[in-house]
Formats: sequence, structure tokens, C-alpha cells
Amino acid sequence: MKLTHLPSEFQEALPILEKLKAAGYEAYFVGGSVRDAILGRPIHDVDIASSSYPEETKAIFPRTIDVGIEHGTVLVLQGEQEYEITTFRTEDVYVDFRRPSQVSFVRSLEEDLKRRDFTVNAFALNEESQIIDKFEGLKDLDARVLRAVGLAQERFNEDALRIMRGFRFAASLDFDIEEKTFQAMQETAPLLEKISVERIFIEFDKLLTASSWRKGLEKLIAAVAYDYLPEMKGKGQLLQKMLDRLEPEFLFQSSEQAWAMLLIALEVSDPRAFLKKWKTSNDFQKLVCALVAAYQERAVARPDKFMTYQFGLENLMLVENLRQAQGLSVALSEIKQLDADLLIHDKHEIVVNGGILIAKLGLKPGPTLGALLHDIEKAIVLGYLPNEKEAIFAYLLEKGRI
Ligand code: ATP
Ligand code: MG
Repeated sequence: MKLTHLPSEFQEALPILEKLKAAGYEAYFVGGSVRDAILGRPIHDVDIASSSYPEETKAIFPRTIDVGIEHGTVLVLQGEQEYEITTFRTEDVYVDFRRPSQVSFVRSLEEDLKRRDFTVNAFALNEESQIIDKFEGLKDLDARVLRAVGLAQERFNEDALRIMRGFRFAASLDFDIEEKTFQAMQETAPLLEKISVERIFIEFDKLLTASSWRKGLEKLIAAVAYDYLPEMKGKGQLLQKMLDRLEPEFLFQSSEQAWAMLLIALEVSDPRAFLKKWKTSNDFQKLVCALVAAYQERAVARPDKFMTYQFGLENLMLVENLRQAQGLSVALSEIKQLDADLLIHDKHEIVVNGGILIAKLGLKPGPTLGALLHDIEKAIVLGYLPNEKEAIFAYLLEKGRI
């Protein structure tokens, strides 16, 4: 079959295929971009597979970067664009369920396509827009099903991350999972414990923020795969509750919002510890924990000035959005008004800081000073105290704090 319209991303990359071919090698577009082009979805990275070995690829193009030579990948720079060119390869014996013990470069496209995870991810596209479909991926795309390439059980045994990718693609493509493939995912799910948490996080995060996240999560629950994910053992019912609580059409607005809802649904008592187990970045932890705290405060109180100041408009809007999706009361315009009326939005806007109080008033650094600054901050936010040096000094004197 021929692709009727070659998206501009591929057109721009055609000279790369042509150069490889002119040098006597085979070269194709491969992977997710081909799948997305056939589906008429937006394309991100254009990946290229070639029979040329990395050193041969490097000899053809003037500007290259070694990004993963041992896996056969060379980054080729062309104009503003960069393309990963990966040598056709097979992956031999997996000893630890996650990485091939050896990557062998081969000269055959078919061998390369065979090691790919799902039939809809195993297309190749040539310079004439011809789709190479060795595993009936087109049929599966049509039927909207994910099917493992080859023997499902074997493929998930080789690399258990594929199990997680399966749930993720069900969510991002809104596809069902073919029966035998699903059964194999269920049976091999315990191997997820052997996969690096960071890689699982990436897939789970993509799942939660995908447009059909419900489908992905439902499959993950049905396969009892949560039992093998960090801090989620035995949490199937709570995960199910997360699905039940949120209205059917609801989509998460950000990754942080999705994880905050997950933590709330799982009734996690220490969000920070949970996210540490998932090895997420500090910035991510900070944001998610703030959302969970804001959500919990909002559950017991109406929004007020200090709540708005403390969590910020953006976070409170994300929380209200979660409340709305569960049919709870919301106070959108009230919060916007509170925010508009705030005299300061950040403690750095306060005209004094610890250093100034130490220098001007001879205060000592330490917890007492910290408490004092917090007190000043709160008084300014609530409007009891003008944000002016003289007024603040007078306030401290009056309160007998200095
Ligand atoms: P996305 O649109 O999210 O980028 P993708 O299909 O391009 O999805 P990538 O993770 O970018 O997924 O991988 C590119 C291609 O490499 C896949 O389409 C698939 O053919 C192959 N692939 C990636 N990871 C694996 C894996 N763990 N096992 C087998 N094949 C894989
Ligand atoms: Mg990709």
C-alpha cells in the first residue's frame, strides 16, 4: 500500500534516505511516525532505519553526533532538523528481561522489523511512500488493535517494558489489545519489577496524560499489572475508584495534575515518599505534593486569601478542575477574584527579608526569625500589614517581638 499523502516532516527528511540509497544502502522511515502518518495523526520524531553500519552512516553525512553507537544509532543534523539513523539490528538473548545481552547489526529490514514491539509499530516506509507491512499491521490499524509482533509471551519475556508500552499505546491510540497479546501481558506482568522505575514512569505518565487514559488504565487494572509497580501493590480497587470518581470525558491538563489525582485516589499518606519510589525529579515532586496539599485543604475549607497566595492561582485552578470532574462544588470566579486582590503573590515581593531584619534590628538567624518572617508574610497577605519597611518594623515592636 502507498501512503496517499507524505507528511511534510517526511518530505523534509527525504534527502537523508536518498543519500543513504545513493551510497548503496537501504533506508526507510520506521517506528511511530509511520504509524501516525497512516492514521493521519500529527508526527513527532522521524526515525530512520538503514542497512548502513554506524561508521558507514557517519562517512556519508558531514554533521553527525554519536548518540548510541553501541545500539547502532547516529544522529544526523540537517539544517535545523536532526534525525536518528539506526542500523538494522536484531536483539539476541535477553538475560535480565530488560536489555538485549547483545545487539547484532544486520543488513535485512525484515529482521529489524521483527524485533519491534507491536505490529502497528513495525511498519517501514520507503522514499516512494510505499508502506512495508510484514506483520499485517495495516489490518490491526484498521481494526484498532495492538498485537505483539510474533509470539507475545516471548516478546514480553525479552523486554517487559513492552507490557507497559502496551497499556500506554492502548491509551494514546485508543486501541484494544488483541486477546493473546493481552493474556501474555497479564502473565508476564510480574517481570515489570525488573524494569527500571524511570522507564516505567515515562510510560505510565504518557498513559495518564493520553486522550484515552481510561482505556489504558482499565487494561492495566484488568491485567493486575499494578501489583508490580512501585507502591501500588494491592491497589486495584482504589485505582478503579479513580476511574469511577472522574466523569467519563475528563482529561488531565498536566502530568502533575494526573499524578496528584492518582495519589489522592490511592489515599497515599506520604506523597513525597511515594514519588521518591517512582524516582521522579524534585521539581515534579514539589509540584505534585503542592497539588495534593491544596486538594486536601480545599476539601475542608472554602478558598481564602492565604490559600490562594500559598498555592497560587494555577495550582488552585487545577484542583478546582479535579473537583469539578468529580461533581464537587467549585469556586472558580471566587479564586480568580482572590488572586486579583492579592497584594503580593510571592514572599520575594516583601520589602524585608531575613538579612534586612538581622542588619537593621539585630535579630539572630534561626527558627525564631523564620517564624517572624512567616508572621509578617501572613499579615501582609491578609491585609493587616502594609508591605512597607516602617510599618513592618513598627508591627514587630508593637507585637513585642523585638
Ligand atoms: P511515540 O509516538 O510515543 O514516540 P513510538 O512508537 O515512536 O511512539 P518510541 O518509543 O519512540 O515509540 O519507539 C520508536 C519505535 O521503536 C517503536 O515504534 C517500535 O517500533 C520500537 N520500539 C521502541 N521501544 C521498543 C521496545 N521496548 N521493544 C520493541 N520495540 C520497541
Ligand atoms: Mg517515537
